[in-house]
Amino acid sequence: MTQRIGLLGGTFDPIHIGHLRAALEVAEQFALDELRLIPSARPPHRGTPQVSAQARLDMVRLAVEGVAPLLVDDRELWRDKPSWTIDTLESLRAELGSEVQLLLLVGWDAFCGLPTWHRWQELLDHCHILVLQRPDADSEAPEMLRDLLAARSVADPQALKGPAGQIAFVWQMPLAISATQIRERLAGARSVRFLVPDAVLAYIHEHGLYRATPSTQE
Ligand code: ATP
Repeated sequence: MTQRIGLLGGTFDPIHIGHLRAALEVAEQFALDELRLIPSARPPHRGTPQVSAQARLDMVRLAVEGVAPLLVDDRELWRDKPSWTIDTLESLRAELGSEVQLLLLVGWDAFCGLPTWHRWQELLDHCHILVLQRPDADSEAPEMLRDLLAARSVADPQALKGPAGQIAFVWQMPLAISATQIRERLAGARSVRFLVPDAVLAYIHEHGLYRATPSTQE
Protein backbone atom coordinates (compact mmCIF):
# COMPACT_ATOMS: atom_id res chain seq x y z
CA MET A 1 0.00 0.00 0.00
CA THR A 2 1.08 3.57 -0.66
CA GLN A 3 2.67 5.26 2.29
CA ARG A 4 0.81 8.09 4.00
CA ILE A 5 2.90 10.69 5.78
CA GLY A 6 1.71 13.66 7.83
CA LEU A 7 3.78 16.84 8.25
CA LEU A 8 3.48 19.33 11.10
CA GLY A 9 5.82 22.30 10.99
CA GLY A 10 6.28 24.75 13.83
CA THR A 11 8.79 26.64 15.88
CA PHE A 12 8.14 24.28 18.83
CA ASP A 13 9.52 26.84 21.24
CA PRO A 14 8.92 24.65 23.21
CA ILE A 15 6.87 21.69 22.00
CA HIS A 16 3.76 21.19 24.16
CA ILE A 17 0.83 18.82 24.53
CA GLY A 18 -1.33 20.92 22.17
CA HIS A 19 1.06 20.05 19.32
CA LEU A 20 1.39 16.46 20.41
CA ARG A 21 -2.32 15.74 20.79
CA ALA A 22 -3.09 17.36 17.42
CA ALA A 23 -0.38 15.26 15.78
CA LEU A 24 -1.42 12.02 17.44
CA GLU A 25 -5.11 12.47 16.71
CA VAL A 26 -4.44 13.04 13.01
CA ALA A 27 -2.02 10.11 12.92
CA GLU A 28 -4.73 7.85 14.36
CA GLN A 29 -7.59 9.22 12.31
CA PHE A 30 -5.69 8.82 9.04
CA ALA A 31 -3.76 5.67 9.96
CA LEU A 32 -0.54 7.46 9.05
CA ASP A 33 2.66 5.53 8.55
CA GLU A 34 4.59 8.53 9.88
CA LEU A 35 3.80 11.94 11.25
CA ARG A 36 6.86 14.16 10.98
CA LEU A 37 7.26 17.14 13.27
CA ILE A 38 9.39 19.64 11.40
CA PRO A 39 10.95 22.37 13.57
CA SER A 40 11.44 25.55 11.59
CA ALA A 41 14.36 27.92 11.72
CA ARG A 42 13.08 30.74 13.90
CA PRO A 43 12.82 34.24 12.48
CA PRO A 44 15.14 36.59 14.38
CA HIS A 45 12.34 38.95 15.42
CA ARG A 46 10.78 36.44 17.84
CA GLY A 47 10.93 37.15 21.54
CA THR A 48 13.75 36.60 23.97
CA PRO A 49 15.09 34.69 25.84
CA GLN A 50 16.53 32.90 22.87
CA VAL A 51 16.60 29.15 22.75
CA SER A 52 18.90 27.52 20.26
CA ALA A 53 17.65 25.49 17.32
CA GLN A 54 19.46 22.55 18.83
CA ALA A 55 17.53 22.89 22.11
CA ARG A 56 14.18 23.09 20.30
CA LEU A 57 15.14 20.03 18.29
CA ASP A 58 16.29 18.14 21.39
CA MET A 59 12.95 18.85 23.07
CA VAL A 60 10.93 17.64 20.08
CA ARG A 61 13.05 14.48 20.00
CA LEU A 62 12.45 13.86 23.69
CA ALA A 63 8.71 14.48 23.29
CA VAL A 64 8.20 11.91 20.53
CA GLU A 65 10.64 9.27 21.70
CA GLY A 66 8.84 5.93 21.61
CA VAL A 67 5.57 7.50 20.40
CA ALA A 68 4.98 5.85 17.02
CA PRO A 69 4.26 7.06 14.41
CA LEU A 70 5.49 10.51 15.51
CA LEU A 71 8.97 11.36 14.22
CA VAL A 72 11.23 14.39 13.99
CA ASP A 73 12.49 15.77 10.68
CA ASP A 74 15.20 18.37 11.15
CA ARG A 75 15.76 19.41 7.51
CA GLU A 76 14.60 23.02 7.99
CA LEU A 77 16.95 23.80 10.84
CA TRP A 78 20.22 23.57 9.01
CA ARG A 79 19.28 25.37 5.83
CA ASP A 80 21.09 28.59 5.08
CA LYS A 81 17.93 30.25 3.75
CA PRO A 82 14.44 30.86 5.16
CA SER A 83 12.43 27.71 5.85
CA TRP A 84 9.79 27.99 3.16
CA THR A 85 7.29 25.14 3.24
CA ILE A 86 7.50 24.77 -0.53
CA ASP A 87 11.24 24.01 -0.28
CA THR A 88 10.57 21.42 2.41
CA LEU A 89 7.93 19.76 0.26
CA GLU A 90 10.23 19.69 -2.77
CA SER A 91 13.01 18.22 -0.70
CA LEU A 92 10.67 15.56 0.75
CA ARG A 93 9.40 14.66 -2.71
CA ALA A 94 12.96 14.32 -4.01
CA GLU A 95 13.62 11.88 -1.19
CA LEU A 96 10.35 9.98 -0.93
CA GLY A 97 9.27 9.89 -4.58
CA SER A 98 6.06 10.99 -6.24
CA GLU A 99 3.71 8.25 -5.01
CA VAL A 100 3.72 8.78 -1.25
CA GLN A 101 0.66 10.60 0.07
CA LEU A 102 1.75 13.71 1.93
CA LEU A 103 -0.66 15.46 4.31
CA LEU A 104 0.38 18.92 5.42
CA LEU A 105 -1.28 19.84 8.74
CA VAL A 106 -2.17 23.50 9.04
CA GLY A 107 -4.23 25.27 11.69
CA TRP A 108 -7.23 27.29 10.46
CA ASP A 109 -5.53 30.62 11.21
CA ALA A 110 -2.42 29.63 9.30
CA PHE A 111 -4.55 28.35 6.43
CA CYS A 112 -6.29 31.73 6.17
CA GLY A 113 -2.84 33.28 5.68
CA LEU A 114 -1.89 30.83 2.95
CA PRO A 115 -1.80 33.45 0.16
CA THR A 116 1.15 35.08 1.94
CA TRP A 117 3.23 31.89 1.81
CA HIS A 118 6.11 31.70 -0.65
CA ARG A 119 4.90 30.09 -3.94
CA TRP A 120 1.65 29.12 -2.20
CA GLN A 121 -0.08 28.12 -5.41
CA GLU A 122 2.40 25.27 -5.86
CA LEU A 123 1.90 23.73 -2.42
CA LEU A 124 -0.93 21.46 -3.54
CA ASP A 125 1.26 20.06 -6.33
CA HIS A 126 3.21 18.30 -3.60
CA CYS A 127 0.77 17.58 -0.77
CA HIS A 128 -2.79 17.53 0.45
CA ILE A 129 -3.62 20.14 3.06
CA LEU A 130 -5.40 19.08 6.22
CA VAL A 131 -6.86 22.10 7.94
CA LEU A 132 -7.14 21.60 11.69
CA GLN A 133 -10.43 23.16 12.70
CA ARG A 134 -11.76 24.06 16.10
CA PRO A 135 -15.41 23.74 17.05
CA ASP A 136 -15.37 27.44 17.96
CA ALA A 137 -13.74 28.68 14.74
CA ASP A 138 -16.29 30.94 13.14
CA SER A 139 -14.32 33.08 10.72
CA GLU A 140 -14.85 32.80 6.99
CA ALA A 141 -12.11 31.92 4.54
CA PRO A 142 -10.56 34.96 2.89
CA GLU A 143 -11.70 35.91 -0.61
CA MET A 144 -8.44 34.74 -2.21
CA LEU A 145 -8.97 31.20 -0.98
CA ARG A 146 -12.61 30.79 -1.97
CA ASP A 147 -11.94 29.57 -5.53
CA LEU A 148 -9.23 27.24 -4.30
CA LEU A 149 -11.55 25.78 -1.68
CA ALA A 150 -14.37 25.38 -4.20
CA ALA A 151 -12.06 23.54 -6.58
CA ARG A 152 -9.99 21.47 -4.17
CA SER A 153 -11.79 20.75 -0.91
CA VAL A 154 -13.36 17.41 -0.17
CA ALA A 155 -16.16 16.99 2.36
CA ASP A 156 -14.91 13.67 3.68
CA PRO A 157 -11.26 13.79 4.78
CA GLN A 158 -11.05 10.02 4.47
CA ALA A 159 -11.78 10.43 0.76
CA LEU A 160 -8.46 12.19 0.03
CA LYS A 161 -7.05 10.49 -3.03
CA GLY A 162 -3.63 10.29 -4.63
CA PRO A 163 -0.35 11.81 -3.48
CA ALA A 164 -1.42 15.48 -3.43
CA GLY A 165 -3.85 18.16 -4.55
CA GLN A 166 -6.85 18.31 -2.19
CA ILE A 167 -7.91 20.13 0.96
CA ALA A 168 -9.83 18.58 3.85
CA PHE A 169 -10.93 19.78 7.26
CA VAL A 170 -10.56 17.84 10.48
CA TRP A 171 -12.11 18.67 13.82
CA GLN A 172 -10.12 18.04 16.97
CA MET A 173 -10.39 18.19 20.72
CA PRO A 174 -9.41 21.78 21.50
CA LEU A 175 -6.51 22.35 23.88
CA ALA A 176 -5.98 26.07 24.23
CA ILE A 177 -2.27 25.87 24.97
CA SER A 178 0.41 27.93 23.28
CA ALA A 179 4.18 28.00 23.50
CA THR A 180 3.88 31.71 24.27
CA GLN A 181 1.95 30.94 27.48
CA ILE A 182 4.53 28.33 28.42
CA ARG A 183 7.45 30.74 27.91
CA GLU A 184 5.62 33.38 29.97
CA ARG A 185 4.97 30.96 32.80
CA LEU A 186 8.60 29.88 32.89
CA ALA A 187 9.81 33.47 32.80
CA GLY A 188 7.57 34.09 35.81
CA ALA A 189 8.98 31.00 37.59
CA ARG A 190 5.58 29.29 37.39
CA SER A 191 5.06 25.60 36.73
CA VAL A 192 4.42 24.19 33.26
CA ARG A 193 4.03 20.66 34.51
CA PHE A 194 1.45 18.66 32.50
CA LEU A 195 1.58 21.26 29.69
CA VAL A 196 4.73 19.67 28.27
CA PRO A 197 5.90 16.05 28.52
CA ASP A 198 7.94 15.31 31.66
CA ALA A 199 11.10 14.69 29.62
CA VAL A 200 10.76 18.14 28.04
CA LEU A 201 10.19 19.71 31.44
CA ALA A 202 13.32 18.04 32.78
CA TYR A 203 15.32 19.32 29.78
CA ILE A 204 14.03 22.87 30.25
CA HIS A 205 15.08 22.87 33.90
CA GLU A 206 18.38 21.14 33.32
CA HIS A 207 19.37 23.73 30.70
CA GLY A 208 17.82 26.72 32.45
CA LEU A 209 15.70 27.59 29.40
CA TYR A 210 13.15 30.41 29.20
CA ARG A 211 14.17 32.01 32.46
CA ALA A 212 13.57 35.70 32.92
CA THR A 213 17.29 36.49 32.99
CA PRO A 214 19.09 35.08 29.94
CA SER A 215 22.44 35.44 31.69
CA THR A 216 21.51 32.50 33.90
CA GLN A 217 21.17 30.23 30.86
CA GLU A 218 23.86 27.79 29.88
P1 ATP B 1 3.78 30.38 19.80
O1 ATP B 1 2.86 30.58 20.99
O2 ATP B 1 5.23 30.53 20.11
O3 ATP B 1 3.35 31.18 18.58
P2 ATP B 1 2.53 27.81 19.20
O4 ATP B 1 2.18 27.19 20.49
O5 ATP B 1 1.39 28.39 18.39
O6 ATP B 1 3.70 28.84 19.38
P3 ATP B 1 3.92 26.71 16.92
O7 ATP B 1 5.22 26.02 17.04
O8 ATP B 1 3.88 28.03 16.27
O9 ATP B 1 3.28 26.72 18.38
O10 ATP B 1 2.84 25.76 16.23
C1 ATP B 1 3.13 24.77 15.31
C2 ATP B 1 1.83 24.21 14.75
O11 ATP B 1 1.05 23.63 15.80
C3 ATP B 1 0.92 25.27 14.11
O12 ATP B 1 0.35 24.69 12.94
C4 ATP B 1 -0.14 25.53 15.15
O13 ATP B 1 -1.38 25.89 14.55
C5 ATP B 1 -0.25 24.18 15.84
N1 ATP B 1 -0.64 24.33 17.23
C6 ATP B 1 -0.09 25.13 18.16
N2 ATP B 1 -0.72 25.03 19.35
C7 ATP B 1 -1.71 24.14 19.16
C8 ATP B 1 -2.73 23.60 20.02
N3 ATP B 1 -2.85 23.99 21.30
N4 ATP B 1 -3.58 22.69 19.49
C9 ATP B 1 -3.47 22.32 18.19
N5 ATP B 1 -2.53 22.77 17.33
C10 ATP B 1 -1.66 23.67 17.80
